[in-house]
Amino acid sequence: MDFYTGCVLRVDLSSHKVTREPLNLSWADLYVGGKGLLLRYLFDELPTGADPWSPENPLILATGPFAGTAVATCSRLAVGCKSPLTGALVDSYVGGSFAPELKYAGYDLVILQGRSPEPVLLCIDDDRVEFLPAVPDFWGLRTSELEELVRQRMGPHHKVLSIGPGGENCIPFACLSTDQYHKAGRGGVGAVMGSKQLKAIAVRGTGYVSVGDARAFAEDMLRIQNERVLTVDNEWAYEQGTPMMLDLVNAAGALPTRDWQTGAFEGAESINSEALLRRRTKVRACAQCPIACRQFHAFADHECEGPEYETLGVCGANCGMSDLDAVATFNRECDELGLDTISTGAVVALAMGLHDKGIADHGLRFGEPKQYVRAPGLIADRSGEGADLALGAQGLATKHGLDGHAAQVKNLDMPAYDPRGLYGMALAYATSDRGACHMRAFAADEELFGDSPPDTLEGKAQHVIDLQNFNAVAWTGVWCANMALDADLLAQHFRHLWKRDVEAEELLAIGDRVWNLGRLLNVREGLGSADDMLPRRLLTQPHPSGAAEGNEIGEAALRRCLREYYSLRGWTGKGVPTEKHLLRAGVDVRLEMPTSPSSTRSTPAPSPASMR
Ligand code: SF4
Repeated sequence: MDFYTGCVLRVDLSSHKVTREPLNLSWADLYVGGKGLLLRYLFDELPTGADPWSPENPLILATGPFAGTAVATCSRLAVGCKSPLTGALVDSYVGGSFAPELKYAGYDLVILQGRSPEPVLLCIDDDRVEFLPAVPDFWGLRTSELEELVRQRMGPHHKVLSIGPGGENCIPFACLSTDQYHKAGRGGVGAVMGSKQLKAIAVRGTGYVSVGDARAFAEDMLRIQNERVLTVDNEWAYEQGTPMMLDLVNAAGALPTRDWQTGAFEGAESINSEALLRRRTKVRACAQCPIACRQFHAFADHECEGPEYETLGVCGANCGMSDLDAVATFNRECDELGLDTISTGAVVALAMGLHDKGIADHGLRFGEPKQYVRAPGLIADRSGEGADLALGAQGLATKHGLDGHAAQVKNLDMPAYDPRGLYGMALAYATSDRGACHMRAFAADEELFGDSPPDTLEGKAQHVIDLQNFNAVAWTGVWCANMALDADLLAQHFRHLWKRDVEAEELLAIGDRVWNLGRLLNVREGLGSADDMLPRRLLTQPHPSGAAEGNEIGEAALRRCLREYYSLRGWTGKGVPTEKHLLRAGVDVRLEMPTSPSSTRSTPAPSPASMR
């Protein structure tokens, strides 16, 4: 079979039993791979209403059909489950070289079920799959130490996907790490792996991915590389990488600053792209990527990749931190401990704001680096003030009676675009399937670089839908969002996959199908229109200063826009996909009961000791 291995690896961690089964080809036809196949398998594998911390919550690794081939940027891996942070679906993506290696080992997907009775490593060496005890040598290691030790023990060619101490301790915003600097950051996928007592997966494959007519494929990929990849549209990624956004967003008044108090940071020039370029040491790439956007820099006491824009915004400006070395150290600590920088920065900024308001003192102050750089370590261990901070921003705000204060949607912390400066992001955050996420629909693009006015929701509903559908199909691929993509470009690749002509509209229909499947899954798990809402603080308080001064999105305006969005989507007024639309979109599942969705949240994180 071309492009697919045709095999799914099912791993029962409770019994340490491993089985192989054929890839469901009718699902591959409908949902392709990556995000689409992940959600389709999750729909069946996740018992309705399961606690995200329970062994019944599967953790699914999904490659795309183009992983392991010459398709540019498609080396990314999709990882998903029910999020312990949000109670909604989460699909998180990571670059590097793990996904191609998994394909070379012979697997399109890995489904991790159950919970191991003791901490383990999973080692996949082509057909040979075995468990190794993680105690005493591996458990407790930081992510770079872990990767190094795994390669020492198993050989230099193994690719490693691992958790840090944050995942081991079930911090709900723990991430997954691979190739040291690459993270599946959002929604707590690392916490779910930790709850399964799985420290790492090491994979090595000696196979290959068949592409059919190899000569025609290679010629086409070379042409696409010259015409569409190594072009001026993608130059920014190599020249500056994502930090180039900082000055632009600051100028728009949308850079979250001091726990979202304003949208303009006076210390921006100390942490912007120029400041980083002065420290740049090298640039590296993920597998299969000729663009190479991973910027390395030298800091006071270490060299590392990043920080990326979101980290500079949320852990820098939003913590009032203009000390670039301190931001880089905070970034490194999050990476090493396996914590999502956005959620970690969010809770630290909130704690700083609590002190300013005289509500609580966690020893954290805006702009003061000493305690700030220690915070990720305290959180990962739940020690001292870290026990409170590990609740996450929404949990900490709620503890102090500040409902509607934390900058989140569905309990996922907002990235570094203040929706009061970029109204399209308000709708993008509200309707994102995994919570406040800039990647599902980066409506800010048109507002920052195009001619879409940033201070109105008028006309934004269809644009956000188009972006969500497009990204949903791109992530079946699984392409990288840092590359300039359009449906025609995707179609040029799908022609090789399906061995026939493919129209752009056909692909966008897949995006619509995948998006509706995700919505159905969220509805089944109890989420609905009440969860498609921004916190009151960002909706009803005028933006105090900066270019967006005086902007107030307004709850009524957002609700009006949501009604338009639901209607354009073919959903009911409560945000539930209708039978008619599901049929049209080709979604092959239905909910068993008529639903009246209500807002749900996941249960508190278990103490790791209670699981052993
Ligand atoms: S553009 Fe950057 S993040 Fe994306 S695949 Fe290439 S190197 Fe990796």
